[in-house]
Amino acid sequence: MSKIKEIISQEKANLNIHEYAFMKSNTVIFSDEVRGLCEKNVCGMYGTSWACPPAVGSVEECKNRCTDFENAFMFTSLAKLKKKYDTVEWRETRLVHELITEQVARIFRDEFREALILSTEGCNLCPKCTYPEKLCRYPNRMFPATESFGIMVIEQAPLCNIKYNNGANSITYFSMVFF
Ligand code: SF4
Repeated sequence: MSKIKEIISQEKANLNIHEYAFMKSNTVIFSDEVRGLCEKNVCGMYGTSWACPPAVGSVEECKNRCTDFENAFMFTSLAKLKKKYDTVEWRETRLVHELITEQVARIFRDEFREALILSTEGCNLCPKCTYPEKLCRYPNRMFPATESFGIMVIEQAPLCNIKYNNGANSITYFSMVFF
């Protein structure tokens, strides 16, 4: 544990991590309320990939998967926006966060091979997801959405002293690692 803390502390700036926190996995807040938003398909990703509900399982199953690990790590990256409502810019900045998450995943999995990685929204690694006909093409690169696991990021972040909102012209992206 102290080794991973040291690596993250050293690599924070290189990785473009804005803020981060380590915690015990049994302190993470799970809620059916978040899953309710998924089921209303607010983001349009429900039922479209292996990274989203219903494929990820029930909130109870997701919680059990997470709490089977002792520790959790939450981090954010921050994107400054040129325009306030530009979906192209939102998509581009999210993809940057996904690349950061892949780097963070590699660091954790070098130390903890089975680490579970959660990131933003659904997965769009493949032009067309194999869901539900065939197995996921890249299970190790597919990071389910934090919210799809029922994690209430808006409540979890302040408990970890991480800012949920960093100002009007920015987007704060969240990922988590269970290890
Ligand atoms: S990696 Fe490809 S097959 Fe797997 S969930 Fe993502 S889009 Fe679907």
